Amino acid sequence: MSIGILGGGQLGYMLALAGYPLGLRFRFLDPSPEAPVGRIAPRVTGDFSDRAALEKFAHGLEVVTYEFENVPVDAVHFLAKKVSVFPPPGALETAQDRLREKQLFEKLGIPTTEFASVPAPSDLEAALKKVGLPAVLKTRRMGYDGKGQWILKTQEDVRIAKEGLPRLPFIAERFVPFTREISVLAARGKGGETAFYPLVENHHRKGILRLSLAPAPSVSPQIQRAAEEAARMVLESLNYVGVLAIEFFEHDGELLANEMAPRVHNSGHWTIEGAVTSQFENHLRAINGFPLGSTTAIGSSAMINLIGEVPQPAKVLAIPSAHLHLYGKEPREGRKLGHVTLRAPSFDQLTSRFASLPAFFQRPDFCLNTRNENEDS
Ligand code: AMP
Repeated sequence: MSIGILGGGQLGYMLALAGYPLGLRFRFLDPSPEAPVGRIAPRVTGDFSDRAALEKFAHGLEVVTYEFENVPVDAVHFLAKKVSVFPPPGALETAQDRLREKQLFEKLGIPTTEFASVPAPSDLEAALKKVGLPAVLKTRRMGYDGKGQWILKTQEDVRIAKEGLPRLPFIAERFVPFTREISVLAARGKGGETAFYPLVENHHRKGILRLSLAPAPSVSPQIQRAAEEAARMVLESLNYVGVLAIEFFEHDGELLANEMAPRVHNSGHWTIEGAVTSQFENHLRAINGFPLGSTTAIGSSAMINLIGEVPQPAKVLAIPSAHLHLYGKEPREGRKLGHVTLRAPSFDQLTSRFASLPAFFQRPDFCLNTRNENEDS
């Protein structure tokens, strides 16, 4: 079986690593000749809108999937005429637009924060009448890792934002003073079967995920069920096949859906060593029509992103129960270069192992009790 993956970053890299033991083969399409997957699989270097590159990429493939959610939808529709594409293009279309995403949550009755469409900067005040202040203003498209977002606390912030905003469509959301951020990873197979991983607690700084804890501590069965129910509704409404992630804010004992990713997700990297079947393997199982694997966690895991710089491998490998993943990318500020997963039989043991990590990890990025950073800004 030959699988085509749109995007050649670390998610594609880890998909291929999970697929080789299943006898799968991979080909990638990525605009960058430096895409990390070049080390492990054939790669077509070309723009996603380059029809000749898409033809070359698609030739002889059984199924196409994507690891990058800003792939142009036109490219995916073009490929879907030649080869099966999973998750379905409609899921990609919804996830690329924050307004459509929130409207889907609303339509399905999934709690989300108050939001309003801002078609142009001149509509900002009207939208803020609905959502109130403080608010978060986000570009509808192409935002990631906190880019394209502004927090508006006062009328003065609104006035300044309005003058400086590019002429783009936005969404305004009520600011949620959440207690923590949680994500659910869910998989749906071709026959409609579903599987859900235990919820993950996520810590961001400067809009970038730094640390995930799984299973998230102190999650009530009701919260786990609510997240699974929300994910199930989204999966079914989109006739989804593959792994989907939904990010939530936990606020007042309730989950508010923030956004979804129609792909494997950074907050699921812990599943490689911390669950019976990894998110990468389950994504491949789903899109190939194989049975889904168990999503049960093995003990407790902490996944630490390596951003901008990496520690010496020997220092990480000297830590008992630590697993190192380097993506083969050139170091650059703010870039995800790898991750480390630390495992322990229980959350308490994980906490004490975490506390004894070497100096490289003893920094605010990796603090286990990071607050909602937006509260301070
Ligand atoms: P997003 O790109 O929507 O995932 O937003 C990036 C980060 O900004 C989130 O992980 C939150 O920490 C924060 N954030 C986004 N939307 C809101 C909101 N409505 N209220 C409070 N914080 C938010």
